[in-house]
Amino acid sequence: MSEVDIRSLYPEELTQIIREMGGKDFQGKQLFRWLHQKQVLDHQEMTDLSKDLRRQLSGGYPLWPLYPVDTQVSALDGTRKFLFTLADGQMVESVWMRYRHGDSVCISSQAGCRMGCAFCASTIGGLVRGLSAGEMLEQVYAVGRAMGRPVSHVVVMGTGEPLDNYSELVRFIRIISHGQGMHMSQRNITVSTCGIVPRIYELAEEKLQITLALSLHGATDSKRQALMPIAKKYSLAEVMGACDYYFESTGRRITYEYSLVGGVNDTDEDAAQLARLLRGRNCHLNLIPVNPVRGRSFRQSDKKVVVKFKNKLEKYGINVTIRREMGRDIDGACGQLRRRHMGD
Ligand code: SAH
Repeated sequence: MSEVDIRSLYPEELTQIIREMGGKDFQGKQLFRWLHQKQVLDHQEMTDLSKDLRRQLSGGYPLWPLYPVDTQVSALDGTRKFLFTLADGQMVESVWMRYRHGDSVCISSQAGCRMGCAFCASTIGGLVRGLSAGEMLEQVYAVGRAMGRPVSHVVVMGTGEPLDNYSELVRFIRIISHGQGMHMSQRNITVSTCGIVPRIYELAEEKLQITLALSLHGATDSKRQALMPIAKKYSLAEVMGACDYYFESTGRRITYEYSLVGGVNDTDEDAAQLARLLRGRNCHLNLIPVNPVRGRSFRQSDKKVVVKFKNKLEKYGINVTIRREMGRDIDGACGQLRRRHMGD
């Protein structure tokens, strides 16, 4: 049995496998369609492949469907948080959200995280492993199955640092947007990063049409460093330079994310510094009132402070929104449901 999840493979790689099994080249494409367009979970349903091929495929490449082991539904807005078990017993969270523009799924890119951001629940137990592209895709497919409705948008903003799992992330994006697969528009995909500078340059060269979201959380090196260890490795100037390059080479506007932490980065001075940093850049700023995490002492900024912060940025001409808090009542910040079940 192969360790490879065939859902992580491109059509031409599937063709190679089919060829080795004695099948015809065009059957690689057929297999890709069964996996990603029809999203079957049983090889026996792949009726245009011969019985012999189906037998070899199910023997060598089992499909691991994700079934939710826990689900939480928000009474406020219908947001649903799913906890899935992977083939090796690891657990990941995915979140389904309904917006005016369609249904969106927030997926995890790693089991755990090694970035160590101070206010984030996902990093507390460290990194276990990166997810395969197939495991990222199956989160989207499984949520779609559970909801019985098509998913139109994906945000890679769950547990993990997507650019720390770079090659599987790129596979995920190319496969989910493939014409013979789910065919999701790349413009409907957002990838959020804490700012791994060399990977941002590399991603720019992939010429994808996705939106890149950069977790800023501070407008000076020292403010950022207080919340995000990665800021000690790459300066703010380097991160902003990489984001400018990404915008210039893809034409896609960067979204900057700024989690407001009460008394830490929400003062008037912080707003002014942030405005100076972003002024003149064609970008979007998303303010996120920090979600309290068990065992960490950060608190949300007062509602009034959040609105004042936003108004100040608007006055400077920054294109800014406050993120609507979806699923406030279901275990707060990402990573907390997983933490509870993994027993940390
Ligand atoms: N590793 C990626 C994806 C992380 S989650 C990244 O760093 O961007 C997506 C966003 O949620 C990030 O901006 C992250 O910093 C933020 N976040 C994490 N925990 C949070 C919390 N408790 N409250 C508010 N935002 C949080």
